[in-house]
Amino acid sequence: MTETTDSVHLPVVNIAETGDIILVVGPEQLKLRVESLILKAASKSLCTMFRLNWQEDRESLVLGPPVDILLPEENPTALTCICAILHYRIEMVPQIMSPYDVLKVAITADKYGLVGALTFANQSWLSPLNKAASDLIVLAAAASLFQNTQAFKEITKALVLSHRGSYLTLWSEDAISVLGERIYCLLEEQRGFARLKLEEILLGGTKASSCVHRCGWTSKYAYAYIQLLETQSLWPMDIQSVAESIERANRMPDPIPEERSTECKFGYKHFVPDYRSSYRYKLDNLDSCIGICLNCFLSKQPSAVSCQMTHEH
Ligand SMILES: [Zn+2]
Ligand SMILES: [Zn+2]
Repeated sequence: MTETTDSVHLPVVNIAETGDIILVVGPEQLKLRVESLILKAASKSLCTMFRLNWQEDRESLVLGPPVDILLPEENPTALTCICAILHYRIEMVPQIMSPYDVLKVAITADKYGLVGALTFANQSWLSPLNKAASDLIVLAAAASLFQNTQAFKEITKALVLSHRGSYLTLWSEDAISVLGERIYCLLEEQRGFARLKLEEILLGGTKASSCVHRCGWTSKYAYAYIQLLETQSLWPMDIQSVAESIERANRMPDPIPEERSTECKFGYKHFVPDYRSSYRYKLDNLDSCIGICLNCFLSKQPSAVSCQMTHEH
């Protein structure tokens, strides 16, 4: 994988064994041997940069040793990853990367116009599964730069569903430099909406059974249901994590009234409510609404928290 050049005695990562250029990356001067043609085909800005570097000595490029291209401001991890993908050296691409490394790759890809070339590679890096909220906000920034609308929605959805406390505890200068502070307002707005909607769905269960003849049938079921919400920690003020509350609601047993109703001549119209089927559809619908729309977010549309449309690309 690495070799030592005679001229500078520093290790070279051979992404392309016979590459014609060596990218000297970052202050630590990591050296990446790559094929200029591949990078030029993928990135217009790199194409321009290489052209400027080589105008004076085109012949040495063809016949001589690889030419050094100095990139002192770039991140070595990010550029190694990007060059490995572009050269189909998949074994050199880490399967698991920290959210901060993913963001560094995204920032570098965005800078050199390489986002499109990394479309398939970024899918697995942006998965919100088993990520802490502090990592999710960084991944959201990366998803935004990768222009991955699906991942951005899934990541912000995970933040809305699972985070309990203030979003300001997730303050990240790295994320803000990409997303701006507005993202924290939108997350708070959408979580507020999700909690209210969930409360509305759950409290709707008090009206699930009704008899208009004042026999007490409605009241006894409503009271039993209210007591059940309290014991299941699903009363409005108990709802902190939306995801946990939805899970508790789905596991909640049906209420069993302990009070009696009076005799009712319309008793043949009484029925025991089917609570589950009445709110399951609404819970599924709520779940599908959560997540911020990247298209609306980038165009500063207020509908970013409620967009259900499919945008043209
Ligand atoms: Zn009745
Ligand atoms: Zn939208």
